[in-house]
Amino acid sequence: MAHRQARILIIGGGFGGLFTALDVAGAGEVTLVSEEDHFLFTPMLYEYLSGEVEAWHIAPRYKELLDEGVRVVRGEVTDIDLKERTVGVSGRAARLPYDVLVLAVGGVTHYWDVEGAEEHTLPFRKLAHADALRRRMELALDRIPPDAAPEDARRAATFAVVGAGASGVELATKMGDLLRDAFARRALPGEPRVMVVEMGKEIVPGMGDEIRGIVRDALKASGVEAHTETRVRRVTKDGFNIEHEGRQTDVEAAAVVWTAGVRVNPLIEGLDVEKTERGLILVEPTLQVRGHKNVLALGDIAFYKDATPTLAGTAQLGQQEASLCASNIKALLDGRRLHARHFVELGEAMSLGTENAAVLAGGRAFGGALARQARFTLYTARLPTWHHRLKVGASWFFEGTDPRPLKPLGYSR
Ligand SMILES: Cc1cc2nc3c(=O)[nH]c(=O)nc-3n(C[C@H](O)[C@H](O)[C@H](O)COP(=O)(O)OP(=O)(O)OC[C@H]3O[C@@H](n4cnc5c(N)ncnc54)[C@H](O)[C@@H]3O)c2cc1C
Repeated sequence: MAHRQARILIIGGGFGGLFTALDVAGAGEVTLVSEEDHFLFTPMLYEYLSGEVEAWHIAPRYKELLDEGVRVVRGEVTDIDLKERTVGVSGRAARLPYDVLVLAVGGVTHYWDVEGAEEHTLPFRKLAHADALRRRMELALDRIPPDAAPEDARRAATFAVVGAGASGVELATKMGDLLRDAFARRALPGEPRVMVVEMGKEIVPGMGDEIRGIVRDALKASGVEAHTETRVRRVTKDGFNIEHEGRQTDVEAAAVVWTAGVRVNPLIEGLDVEKTERGLILVEPTLQVRGHKNVLALGDIAFYKDATPTLAGTAQLGQQEASLCASNIKALLDGRRLHARHFVELGEAMSLGTENAAVLAGGRAFGGALARQARFTLYTARLPTWHHRLKVGASWFFEGTDPRPLKPLGYSR
């Protein structure tokens, strides 16, 4: 394979795909295929919902991040032919050929076959999902007459988040703060109701007691009810049914948001390569797919044996793998030996409402307004490209990161 002419095809422009493209640019004819025209820094999707950050901060367009060294093709990859070395893209008659293929398509929401969940809940993985949820909150508020009885206002402004993992509690606290603020601004009677529903015994399962304590306090401060050991049995257009200790309850809700699971992208489900029981692609320590030296996989779809369980399924793992992926592609093209790498925990941060956050670093956790500040700083450093980081850092520093209140509808975002 002559180096400069090698066709490097990357499917997916998230943490794995975009950061690989940035590092491998110029090593061959690089093409990135993505359904979206932008990257998404998912850890701050909650701040986008609350208006603390804007779309351009966390979802820069590929054309702003990648130079002419990478060709971007917008479209959904529908199938991969590993023998012919081509992929099909929806709406394009011609298949895209490759010499080296990078699989980085990430996960999709997993509804666990709960009745009505896929049809009636809102997912929370993309900008459009946050827009839809914000609109749903504004719509619910608009429907409450100023002279409503407090219990009617509360019923009309009931929202639920299914799953009390990090994502569920981050989202619920943000929603709690936004809705309470809107009640105060509109002088509505009573309080909104935000529930977070968790099947397991504890909120934020898998996290330490110290952080759980911080999260519990934050839920309380944002007025969020935590329902543990509670199973969602059914979701309908107007609400949902839960079961706790054998007792079932129907709850009316303006929206139910589903954060209770991630499964492997359907594109990977249909791919005939070695996988784990959960359907993750088994990759060699070099990120090569077993039995396919010219195919590398990373991020949420790949099982990397050396990564600790707490790193699995995280943006920081995808980002670290991308750098290995790019250097191994270059080695492959040069005929050099490919390498393995040990990935490290870089610390993590959680958003907990519009005024609060928690930072976990070196096995310790701290919360409060300072943690919120630290989180913004930490995440500025993890955004793609120096240029974008500088622009965003300056914007947050000079223009601030205050939330944008939920507005009466008719006001466009
Ligand atoms: C709301 C939210 C908050 C999160 N917060 C954190 C956090 O705080 N910390 C953390 O470490 N992790 C967090 N994560 C997890 C993190 O986002 C993922 O681990 C990470 O994005 C995985 O990277 P990836 O490259 O595998 O996939 P993704 O980043 O999901 O990228 C996949 C890309 O592939 C594209 N794609 C998918 N299918 C196709 C197709 N058929 N054809 C073309 N393109 C396709 C998608 O549009 C997307 O651009 C969060 C996730 C979500 C949803």
